[in-house]
Amino acid sequence: MGLLENVLFAPGVTDDQRQAATNRMNSDPGVPDSRKTTQPFWLEDASPISNVRSEGLQEEVDIVIIGSGITAASVARELLKGGHASTPKIAVLDARDICSGATGRNGGHINEAGFDVYSNVAEVLGKDIAAKVTRFRLGHLPLLLEIAREEQLLEETQIRTVESVFAFFDSTRFLEAKAALALFKADMPLESKDHRIFEAEDARKKFLLPDICGAITYPAGAVWPYKLVAGIFHRILESHGGNIWLESNTPVNAILRPDDDNSKFTIVTPRGNIKATHVVHCTNAHAGHLIPGLRGHIVPLRGHMSAQVPGKSFPDQSHRSWSFIYAKGFDYLTQLLPNYPSSSPLCAGSELMMGGGFAQGLGGGIEDFGVATDSRPFDFHTKVHLSGILRAAFAEEKWGEEDSKPIKSMWTGNMGFTHDSLPLVGKLHSSLTGRNLHPKSIGSEWIAAGFNGEGMVHAWRSGVAVAQMMLEDLAPNSSYGWQEWFPDQLLVTEERLKMSAPSQ
Ligand SMILES: Cc1cc2nc3c(=O)[nH]c(=O)nc-3n(C[C@H](O)[C@H](O)[C@H](O)COP(=O)(O)OP(=O)(O)OC[C@H]3O[C@@H](n4cnc5c(N)ncnc54)[C@H](O)[C@@H]3O)c2cc1C
Repeated sequence: MGLLENVLFAPGVTDDQRQAATNRMNSDPGVPDSRKTTQPFWLEDASPISNVRSEGLQEEVDIVIIGSGITAASVARELLKGGHASTPKIAVLDARDICSGATGRNGGHINEAGFDVYSNVAEVLGKDIAAKVTRFRLGHLPLLLEIAREEQLLEETQIRTVESVFAFFDSTRFLEAKAALALFKADMPLESKDHRIFEAEDARKKFLLPDICGAITYPAGAVWPYKLVAGIFHRILESHGGNIWLESNTPVNAILRPDDDNSKFTIVTPRGNIKATHVVHCTNAHAGHLIPGLRGHIVPLRGHMSAQVPGKSFPDQSHRSWSFIYAKGFDYLTQLLPNYPSSSPLCAGSELMMGGGFAQGLGGGIEDFGVATDSRPFDFHTKVHLSGILRAAFAEEKWGEEDSKPIKSMWTGNMGFTHDSLPLVGKLHSSLTGRNLHPKSIGSEWIAAGFNGEGMVHAWRSGVAVAQMMLEDLAPNSSYGWQEWFPDQLLVTEERLKMSAPSQ
């Protein structure tokens, strides 16, 4: 069972709560609304392209990408990479500022522990598939580091490898994790060679957490996610200005199917319409708005994040990241580098970027199911948890005196969850979009979404895969190689959707 079913059917959840959540989960998530949004710390340091747009929309392009988060950046970059028969013309449309959705709101944690996903997937789908899914996820950190290097964004984005600490505040969860790690080490020795177990006494001292039962460490990544994605878009605009148009604050309200008069899709926005051969949905939590058949399959889920000032004695820990694992639920944490040059008045460097508190929310998190707005009010219990956990978890003598305003910023964001916990990637059948293709039409609609709160280890390579699928469609008989590394289980198939149908 994935997180959705775990929470929906948790003891203590009433029938009324479950039904109300199910109704929200199956309903139209709508278009993101910029009027009610919370302002994330990351976006305070706005990119020069945050609200870029053309004077007028292009009338016709080859490909429209809807969304401008990490998935859209990946699709666009792959399509424009060069070496293709011809370079496509692309319009990227976002309802709000560039990269102000989940990617501009997340924890910046590029975190693939490996052992938990491997053992869960192996149990349901077998070891070979589990190994492919785990490798697919693990491949994100080296790839994102390489792209940041290529685009000369290493310093600006702070992207780096960190020692990630799975810190267990619950002994049962620690025991389960050790069993999963043993399996992972036996089956994937190369990928697990840097994983280490620390029993309670060592772990408490080493990681400054006096109440943990033990820890597992492994390499992971940390990044300023907004700077990475906005930076990549900026570079793409500079290098491919004649082929790509970024249109911020341009919501797509509808898509019309190709008809007798035109073999292209019509993308309807308040600024006018665009015709396109292909449409790529990179709208994650909001995918169900334009793809009615995916309502209930990609479920919006609201998450909370915060930027906090460490206690005055807290030693720099920016070489680490953490997952705090409780009997119920988890939090995630990274720290910004000290003395980081930012134009944001909020950013002084060394901020602790703390997210989670989902399970501590009302009804064990169920009230955040089906919530597709990143607005206030915060869940009160989540807010209390996030505001207090750092000073409660870290050793008092290592934390020291509190800053006078320790919470610099708190915000929310929307993720897209699926019932089998795997992303949905590939070509969309007309039964899902409700737009039958005309015999004359040569294009299709595509999607890469449903990253289950782990877009930093799912989204980039899903975007590359969907772009390569599309390029193969544009140039029949070409082959881009995505099949070698991309797990088939992530493809959008009718069979898969039937197997994981939403409850009513
Ligand atoms: C609080 C929080 C913390 C998280 N922390 C982490 C983390 O530490 N590590 C990790 O791996 N993952 C994390 N995630 C998940 C991760 O952020 C997402 O999986 C990832 O950013 C999804 O990227 P995306 O590009 O698919 O979607 P998004 O970044 O959400 O982009 C979708 C875009 O589509 C636009 N859009 C939607 N509908 C329309 C429309 N009709 N017309 C035009 N535009 C539209 C939106 O405005 C938005 O900009 C977190 C998420 C949240 C909310």
